[in-house]
Parts: sequence; structure tokens; C-alpha cells
Amino acid sequence: MKNFKDKTVVITGAGSGIGRALAIEFGNQNAKLALNDFNMQTLQKTVDILKHKGVNNILTFAFDVSDKTLMNDFAQKVRSTFGNAHIVINNAGIGGSAEPAYLTDTDSYREVMDVNFFGVLNGCQSFLPQLVANNEGSIVNISSIFGLIGTPNNSAYCASKFAVRGYTESLAIEFHKSPINIHCVHPGGIKTNIAGDESDSEFVEKYLKTPPEQLAKRIIKGIQNKEVKIVFGTDAFKTWLGSNLLPQKLLNKLIWKEMNNILDIEKYKQFIKNL
Ligand code: NAD
Repeated sequence: MKNFKDKTVVITGAGSGIGRALAIEFGNQNAKLALNDFNMQTLQKTVDILKHKGVNNILTFAFDVSDKTLMNDFAQKVRSTFGNAHIVINNAGIGGSAEPAYLTDTDSYREVMDVNFFGVLNGCQSFLPQLVANNEGSIVNISSIFGLIGTPNNSAYCASKFAVRGYTESLAIEFHKSPINIHCVHPGGIKTNIAGDESDSEFVEKYLKTPPEQLAKRIIKGIQNKEVKIVFGTDAFKTWLGSNLLPQKLLNKLIWKEMNNILDIEKYKQFIKNL
């Protein structure tokens, strides 16, 4: 798909960061926008920005993407308002607890998986029939460079983003001979609110540098060119290269060198001692 005029574009997590930037880019291209976010206020702010730019074909539905029933309701609402969806961007996501794996409990893993993986799965399952009915379209699932490598203090997030990648790559094979295109996006550090309360930290300053508007433009180009894997943003290319070319032991050594300063070694020693 090269031209998005009057195409129906669904974006989850459109109340902030990458989702909002995508909504604005597709709005600029005269698409019909079906926008979701968990947070009604920030979603409304996105709508206000779009309206100010003269974009008026907007449907909003505030809900938690991990709720399958509500995702189905959203899909029905989109079809009855705009017709079948053409592009579905499963973008909504949360960060993990920023603790080492040995301190992260099962509920924290479930919480991240529910949004980051099952939210993506729900979006695909609820909207794929509409794309098939249109006989064209794109599913865009947002993974991360942390779906390419594992990093310290991030095991729940990494696990969820590897899950998105695995699921999306399987889907891409299954739809290989169809008019539906499947895209997996691996952003590097993008300057958004994903880090929440830690947004002033050294980590955020060092890694989250690429403006979301640049990524939104890159994703649109990737859809137009039918790219299955889109890798873009701070440190994304070198991460992709390292994960594809280096033996795991060497890769681990480099990641350790780059990131071991965020681990509390004394805490770890204490943990081992108490086993
Ligand atoms: P962000 O926090 O600015 O935006 C995420 C949006 O998702 C927020 O508006 C939030 O309210 C919404 N959301 C969270 N949980 C939700 C739920 N259960 N249901 C509906 N909406 C929900 O962050 P962002 O950086 O724009 O993140 C967008 C996506 O990009 C996420 O999947 C994130 O993991 C991924 N990503 C971000 C980066 C980065 O460096 N910022 C890098 C790689 C991948």
C-alpha cells in the first residue's frame, strides 16, 4: 500500500510517544484514524492535536489492550464507523520493573506480558479478519531492540518483546503468499514517556534519543516497501548487526561491558549468599 488517503488505520497506545507520532503522520496523509489508549486524557490530547491540524476522521476507544473482549468491541466499532481496517499498528506497551531477574516476581512478568504480548495478539486476532476481507493491508507489531538482545534489569520487557517478535515472524510466514503484509518493528531508544518516573535518569538520557516522529516516518516507508523487519532508532542498527553476526558469548561480553554499571553487584552477591 503506497497511499493512505481514506484508508482505515488502527493504532493502539496513541495517547503518547510513538503511537501519537504515527497518528499525526497518518493524519497528515488523510487516513481515517481509529485510535486507542488506556489513558483517556492523553488520547484526547492526541485528538486535539490532530483536529488543530485539520484532521477530522477520527474514532477513539479508550480501553486496556490486554482485554480481548474490548479489543473485539473496538474492531466492530471500527468496521461499523469506517469499514474494514487496512492497517493495524499494535503499539501500546509498558516498561518492566527495572530490577534484575532474581528480584522480579511472577506477577510482574504477567503484567508486562499481558500488555506487551497479549495486547499485540488480541489486536492481530480481532482485526486480521477485516484485512482478509479487504484483501489487502498491513499488521505492524511493535517489538524493540530488546526483542533482538537480552539486557540486564529488563528481563520481563525483553521476554515480552522476544514473544512479539516470535509471534510476528510466524505470522509473516503464514501470510507470505497473501496480500496481507506483516511487519515487525524493532525501535532503538526513542525519546518518549516509556520510562515513566525514571525519565530523568542517566539511562534515559543516554539511550532514548531518537524523536518518535522520525520512527513514525520510517514505519510508514516500511509499510509502503512491504518490509517485514523494520529496525530503527538509537543503537538499533549495531544491536541488529551484533545479534545476527556475533557468537552469543562475545555479544554477552559486549553487552556486559556496556551495561553492567546498572546492576547492583553487592545485592546480587547477597542474594547468592542467601540461597
Ligand atoms: P509511551 O509510554 O510514550 O506510549 C505508550 C502508550 O501506550 C501510552 O500512551 C500508554 O498509555 C499506552 N498504554 C500502555 N498500556 C496500555 C494498555 N494496556 N492498553 C492501552 N494503551 C496502553 O511509550 P512509547 O515509547 O511510545 O511506546 C510505544 C511502543 O514502542 C511500546 O510497545 C514500547 O515498548 C515500544 N518501544 C519503545 C521504545 C522507546 O525507546 N521508547 C523502544 C522500543 C520499543
